[in-house]
Amino acid sequence: MSQAARTPSARYSSEQLLQRIFGYERFRGRQREIIETLAGGGNALVLMPTGGGKSLCYQIPALMRAGTGIVISPLIALMRDQVEALKANGVAAAVLNSSLDAQARRQVEQDLLAGQLDLLYIAPEGLLRESVLELLGRCELALFAIDEAHCVSQWGHDFRPEYLQLGILRDRFPEVPCIALTATADDRTRAEISRHLLPDGGQTFIDSFDRPNIRYRVGLKQNARTQLLHFIDREHRGHSGIVYCFSRKRAEETAAFLHQHGFTALPYHAGLSADERERHQDRFISEDGVIICATIAFGMGIDKPDVRFVAHLDLPRSIEAYYQETGRAGRDGLPADAWMVYSLADIVQIRQMQANSSAPEAQQRLERERLEALLAYCEHAGCRRPPLLSYFDEHHPGACGHCDNCLNPPATWDATEAARKALSCVYRTGQRFGAGHVIDVLLGKNTDRISALGHDTLSTFGLGADIDRKTWQSVIRQLLALGHLQPDPEGHGGLQLTERCRPLLKGEVQVELRRDTIPLKRQRAAGSRVEVDTSAPGWQALRQWRLQTAGEQGVPPYVIFHDATLAAILDARPRTLDELGAVSGVGQHKLERYGRDVLNVLATL
Ligand code: ADP
Ligand code: ZN
Repeated sequence: MSQAARTPSARYSSEQLLQRIFGYERFRGRQREIIETLAGGGNALVLMPTGGGKSLCYQIPALMRAGTGIVISPLIALMRDQVEALKANGVAAAVLNSSLDAQARRQVEQDLLAGQLDLLYIAPEGLLRESVLELLGRCELALFAIDEAHCVSQWGHDFRPEYLQLGILRDRFPEVPCIALTATADDRTRAEISRHLLPDGGQTFIDSFDRPNIRYRVGLKQNARTQLLHFIDREHRGHSGIVYCFSRKRAEETAAFLHQHGFTALPYHAGLSADERERHQDRFISEDGVIICATIAFGMGIDKPDVRFVAHLDLPRSIEAYYQETGRAGRDGLPADAWMVYSLADIVQIRQMQANSSAPEAQQRLERERLEALLAYCEHAGCRRPPLLSYFDEHHPGACGHCDNCLNPPATWDATEAARKALSCVYRTGQRFGAGHVIDVLLGKNTDRISALGHDTLSTFGLGADIDRKTWQSVIRQLLALGHLQPDPEGHGGLQLTERCRPLLKGEVQVELRRDTIPLKRQRAAGSRVEVDTSAPGWQALRQWRLQTAGEQGVPPYVIFHDATLAAILDARPRTLDELGAVSGVGQHKLERYGRDVLNVLATL
């Protein structure tokens, strides 16, 4: 028997659907324009940050148009999640993928042919099967939505060869409108998406990539794990979060460390069995307050709206990767933290890996440029948003008021003299030694190594005794970050000069460096939205009810209601169903289904 029944929605406007089905008051950013374009049969390329609200851009037009909307997405977990969320809102949605048994598959196909599905999610490799294309040829189709469209880019880290073949959809179904969506927005990727996925053109919609609810913080690594522990302990007890680590081993150790200190923390990386990975991901999604310690393999395609922090214990690959990863925090619009620590050793390690890479030269150059942009961001002394957003060709005026540098502006100093001394000492010692030895020479230390090498006779010996070791470390780290120094390509840990330092050595330019401070103090956002008062009795009661209801239905709690919706409910304290229905995030279907329960919970407070 079919469980599906199409939502009778063709007669509603986009705005009415937004309110009735999804329970939201108004469109965000350019959602309305995009939806109207699709509903009118046009194609669109949509660039929006993570959490920007891409899903509605195809879900609503699929409801407005006759036929089924086909959503192509690379990840099974994401599809499952979105379908659950849609069903909870009363939308007829289904998944067609390899996880279905034969009978379930037949059912979906029948529903599709009978025109009873609003939306059908398919993985690209499934869609490209001839039998599936033929099946689609026999149905009425509302639109194609190609999610994570940057997977078509061979330059990117998420390249998927099947995405290149999706161009076939334009040949086979030229009359069906198509929307390609991504949170990656550099020019090259954008061009590739257009070329491969929307060859017959379409309108490009670029939303602001700013995520005002995310507080960015970057600090120096001292004892990374302890720093992380303090951060989570003071600011995120009981919250869900992701900690990104460079290696599997580090992910394991960090999870064990947090676990020892009483947090629910689980590792996630490619070294775990598929089973284990899925179990950990499921717990992250369905329980409150789980922390995942992951390598980069984790996160894409996870729609969890209430991730309250994303921490980086190691440098990400690029600003783009950093922005994607941190973007997984705070999709619900409530305050969230992006927290990172890094060190001189991290820079040396990544630079060395790059130097030893066997990738083609063009690719290597790109990687180097990416790292440089990231390091410049880390060392930046002004508001964090302009350098982040300039990556997306977006101008931000700065002074956001809730990043680390806005809240505690770092002091800078004229380091021209010091930088020249450091560079000159690297040169005189033969460009073979690491920071430790170079600093010893600058400080004029009488170590055995120095006398054995005769470095106590160099002109730079003791030349920097007026500055302490920590400051010299800071100078060398920043010179590395700025590209004046590089580690030797053989990987012995020696520092070398680069072409770039020439004008500095000749005294033609000045350098201003930031003074390192004890990093990452707790920071209260000045202008951010109200935080949820998690100690309020109503909050606990509503969460308890939600957890129980979710458990009974076998869905993640946020499928019932988001944190943001619970907070809005507490704020509004509705006493009638009508009042409850007016709260943002409470749609028609959920009102009918949960309205009484919620009012009952509120009545007991
Ligand atoms: P993306 O796919 O761009 O990362 P989503 O489509 O998952 O983002 O949307 C992020 C969150 O914002 C979701 O929880 C979604 O329900 C919510 N959202 C989207 N559009 C609106 C809107 N117009 N008003 C309120 N919330 C919205
Ligand atoms: Zn700022």
